[in-house]
Amino acid sequence: MDIRDLRINGERLKSTLERMAEIGRTSGGGVHRLALSDEDKQARDLLIKWLQEIELEVAVDEMGNIFGRRAGKKDNLPPVMSGSHIDSQPKGGRFDGILGVMGALEVMRTIQENQIENTRPIMIVDWTNEEGSRFSPAMAGSGVWTGKLERDWAYARKDFHGKKIGEELERIGYKGQALAKRWPVYAYFELHIEQGPILERVGKKIGIPQGIVGIRWYDVFIEGKANQVGPTPMEGRNDALCSAAEMILQVEALPAQMGGNMVATVGEIHNDPNSRNIIPGQVHFTVDIRSWDDPLTDRAEGELQTGFQKIATKRNCPARIEKIWKVEHTPFDEFLVTQVGKIAAQLGYPSYSLVSGAGHDATYMSQVAPTAMIFVPSIGGRSHVEVENTRWEDCEAGGNVLLHCILQSAR
Ligand SMILES: [Zn+2]
Repeated sequence: MDIRDLRINGERLKSTLERMAEIGRTSGGGVHRLALSDEDKQARDLLIKWLQEIELEVAVDEMGNIFGRRAGKKDNLPPVMSGSHIDSQPKGGRFDGILGVMGALEVMRTIQENQIENTRPIMIVDWTNEEGSRFSPAMAGSGVWTGKLERDWAYARKDFHGKKIGEELERIGYKGQALAKRWPVYAYFELHIEQGPILERVGKKIGIPQGIVGIRWYDVFIEGKANQVGPTPMEGRNDALCSAAEMILQVEALPAQMGGNMVATVGEIHNDPNSRNIIPGQVHFTVDIRSWDDPLTDRAEGELQTGFQKIATKRNCPARIEKIWKVEHTPFDEFLVTQVGKIAAQLGYPSYSLVSGAGHDATYMSQVAPTAMIFVPSIGGRSHVEVENTRWEDCEAGGNVLLHCILQSAR
């Protein structure tokens, strides 16, 4: 058989994804599989079972990243790698992350059953805590592995209940022996849903991201003065929640004010003591700013600092702004990006070039190895929600593009 005629098994990919969607299934048809939770452990156990079934060499590193390796004819050459993440957002979808891991698994199964001889080793990877919703920051596993984050700092990151990444890795039995330290990688491919509306809008099956926008995360802590609401007159109050309200609207107005292609969001807020008859004494909220233009984001950060301090002073509610995460915008490898486009064309899939507005493990990977991503359409552009959906035929198309990207690179 001509290797160019090789295709993945779309039905098998579908049933694998459906089986994974049972782990942490929600009543609304989504998935709740937070990083290092019991559900994450179950999904990891199943992945490892599947990796062993096709005789891959399995390794778990000290960050809980899982690797499955297929040897190559020239086994000491740097490998071709592909994967994504198994963890989900709270009440998230059935495709985000898991498609990239199951897609790579399906590629490995196809290569195995057709007894394809690969020159370079091929590796599949599941990165720990990509979502960053239980433990911030996002992309912690790939961040440590690529040397962009400190292992012990990552271990000490806590969830809302004070549980640490290090402890939770141990609890679920995934604090592995191998060092979370990068090795040379020849090419890294990540298949992922688009998570936006563009591919659907232009009616194309395959998205070819040129790169990923820069992302910054901030935590804002406001100190007000809690008091009984009735006897305390309006004058002279120090209402932390009202301060936050003003700041949040400032965040919303920021992209229009800065110009360019920027989005800014406050997605999480904690009000204390959160009682209807107490003036809010403390508020913590998060800010997420994204743009392709890093200097513009620098200026936006300055604007925000100044604006927040003004509000804090005016309302006499001191505010502390902590920058907890920053990644610069990331252009992908030109050669691999072109390769994704050529392969999509050879397979007869209409493709479209775009920029990823979401962060992915590929962000860190592209800083240490030639990297490209393959997007497939999200129905209605919805993601990080239970209704997140992608047509099975599009999952299959993405899997086929991934197959030939990996085959060409590992040939
Ligand atoms: Zn993802």
